[in-house]
Amino acid sequence: MPAPLARVETTPHIPDSADAVVIGGGIVGVFAGYYLAQRGLKVALVEKGLIGAEQSSRNWGWCRQQNRDARELPIATRSLDLWDRFAAQSGETTDFTRCGLFYLSNDDAELDRWARWRDFARTLGVTTHMLDGAEASRRGAATGQSWKGGIFSPSDGTANPANAAPAVARAILKLGGSVHQMCAVRGLETTGGRVSAVVTEQGSIRAPIAILAGGAWTSSFCRQLGISFPVVSIRSSVVAVSAGAEGLPAALHTAKVSITRRADGGYTLAVSGRGRVDPTLQQLRFAPQFLPMFARRWRNLLPGGFEGLRSGHETLRRWRLDQPTPMERMRILDPAPDQATIRLTHQRALDLLPALRKTTVTASWAGYIDSTPDGVPAIGETPALHGLILAAGFSGHGFGIGPGAGHLIADLATGAAPIVDPRPYSPGRFARFQAGKVADF
Ligand SMILES: Cc1cc2nc3c(=O)[nH]c(=O)nc-3n(C[C@H](O)[C@H](O)[C@H](O)COP(=O)(O)OP(=O)(O)OC[C@H]3O[C@@H](n4cnc5c(N)ncnc54)[C@H](O)[C@@H]3O)c2cc1C
Repeated sequence: MPAPLARVETTPHIPDSADAVVIGGGIVGVFAGYYLAQRGLKVALVEKGLIGAEQSSRNWGWCRQQNRDARELPIATRSLDLWDRFAAQSGETTDFTRCGLFYLSNDDAELDRWARWRDFARTLGVTTHMLDGAEASRRGAATGQSWKGGIFSPSDGTANPANAAPAVARAILKLGGSVHQMCAVRGLETTGGRVSAVVTEQGSIRAPIAILAGGAWTSSFCRQLGISFPVVSIRSSVVAVSAGAEGLPAALHTAKVSITRRADGGYTLAVSGRGRVDPTLQQLRFAPQFLPMFARRWRNLLPGGFEGLRSGHETLRRWRLDQPTPMERMRILDPAPDQATIRLTHQRALDLLPALRKTTVTASWAGYIDSTPDGVPAIGETPALHGLILAAGFSGHGFGIGPGAGHLIADLATGAAPIVDPRPYSPGRFARFQAGKVADF
């Protein structure tokens, strides 16, 4: 069963021209379009399926600084401010709230890691509180257990994946931009080494700037342009339960299971970092670059099935611009949830939090997480093609940092001072990737 999703109106006709075309209506694409439209650019947002229907509606909704890699912490912090401001600026709601994120552990090594992260985060002005055993057990009373310790990050929060991307797309419409759904972008036209038009299944849009925010489809799209972008998709599954459990934290992580309260009062349950790797030819192609990532995460990654080959998002095929592409065959990437993970997740959640026994399972779904070799996204103009800004490979972190990523993209596209240092996200870094540090999930 797919994740819940609010709908957005579609602009009837694609325009002949735009100042910028955004390819992909996930959280990254919509925020990029929003900040570009806010600066007065004529924006066309083009989505092959429905706004937000892939990863951006299937995630837990966490918007966190807690335990973020040093390369992502600044953009995570700025994103929280932007989440805060978006509702007031646009009159649309994403249900963002700074509910705080709460972590519990009985593992000394893990608690030491969190304490080291707290010390590092302090140097960047981020406040997070280590909890001793008594405080962790008091705050975690709903588990009915005692804990060695925990950490609480009060300025972090959650937004609602079911309506965040649609709300931002509506804000683009209010600013005079256009939103085109069920319309795949097949490729780009170039003139003198620059983007000159975006070719969609409904015709071409002349534009000097294209933002490629295609999530799990981005690498195969880049391949059509002769650009190598190493991405492996990991199938991650979650369970949704109904409202009815009282006294639980809004967002809780433990090594065994994590829970998040949704806007409807129900909870989303998942096991952090656990996923299936459905083999594809793209994965074989990029395997050497991913060895450090797999070496680091193998405990949580399980072998998958043929789901990835059937979906077509990691095809190595070259397609023509005048014929339907794999993206028109698969409007919404909706992989089957992994039933073993669903059962395990639900059981672990009931064991951890007995109050959840009052709820019923309402849905389960999966999403393909587009991961880069170092677990850090690519945001920036491609060295190979002027005017093409790549924004993908968010490696399981893109929902929370979507506003900051969108703002940074708009900064880069308009030549404004960047909201954060863009260098850690340079797409060019993969050309010289040498077993660099792999970020945490
Ligand atoms: C189970 C799960 C839990 C997660 N939990 C969290 C979390 O708690 N916090 C967090 O920060 N992140 C989380 N993530 C990751 C987060 O959801 C993603 O990083 C983020 O949504 C990526 O946004 P995106 O816009 O890059 O991609 P997507 O949301 O995947 O959107 C890409 C869009 O591009 C469209 N598209 C692709 N190619 C084309 C084309 N050629 N033409 C037109 N349209 C195209 C697709 O149809 C799609 O709608 C989670 C992910 C999953 C799957």
